[in-house]
Amino acid sequence: MASMSLAASPRDSGESAVQIKDMNKWFGEFHVLKDVNLEVRRGERIVICGPSGSGKSTMIRCINRLEEFQKGSVTVDGIPLTNDLKRIDEVRREVGMVFQHFNLFPHLTVLENCTLAPIWVRKMPKKEAEERAMAFLDRVKIPHQAKKYPGQLSGGQQQRVAIARALCMNPKIMLFDEPTSALDPEMVKEVLDTMVSLANDGMTMLCVTHEMGFARQVADRVIFMDAGQIVEMNEPNAFFSHPQHERTKQFLSQIL
Ligand code: ADP
Ligand code: MG
Repeated sequence: MASMSLAASPRDSGESAVQIKDMNKWFGEFHVLKDVNLEVRRGERIVICGPSGSGKSTMIRCINRLEEFQKGSVTVDGIPLTNDLKRIDEVRREVGMVFQHFNLFPHLTVLENCTLAPIWVRKMPKKEAEERAMAFLDRVKIPHQAKKYPGQLSGGQQQRVAIARALCMNPKIMLFDEPTSALDPEMVKEVLDTMVSLANDGMTMLCVTHEMGFARQVADRVIFMDAGQIVEMNEPNAFFSHPQHERTKQFLSQIL
């Protein structure tokens, strides 16, 4: 059985997992990200919140180059994200992503969803890929659903499959984009519990979420974005009890 330990990432080791410098991005004329600077150390857990349309998804999608940016630089685990396709590929190997709408392949079983990329991208032998996938499905507490199709599962179960699928690629960094916001309320907790367990294992995580209980529980830093900028960034206690900026106060008063 392959080892199921997550990528070694001692908490706060001081080594940079993600470095974003002066990132600027436009959609046509629209300046969507403005001078974004962020350094994430290995093992750090970052929660990103902010109003709809503030650029949260765009920012984290730039980290694995699902979106291009026009100015500035991104370095992931020491690899500069350039236009070089080989580099983009290297970075994508390091970064797992979980989306709001699960994005599972509906015509593949849960197990096949989890083994597809390891077999075809990583050239892993099928048996090994299946063993690893089963271990991660066990970890997200749905090993019994392995032979089912996504459409036969609840939203919470599908999202846990999406997390297991990302983990099967052995990422060093996990990006979450509002992973619970499409779920019925009773399913939010099972997904958050999975994320907390990942965080406790030392995974480097950037999570766009408005689940402030989660932020208080696991975040090392909370970021507030508005209109394409990082307006405020602080450790959770200070962030929630003493927000510095008027826009942060306003936002928190609406969601808390
Ligand atoms: P958030 O995740 O904070 O809700 P997004 O990053 O999705 O915000 O979007 C930021 C802004 O960029 C929004 O105004 C959105 O309409 C715009 N936007 C997002 N994607 C595109 C795109 N592909 N083309 C043009 N505008 C876009
Ligand atoms: Mg978004």
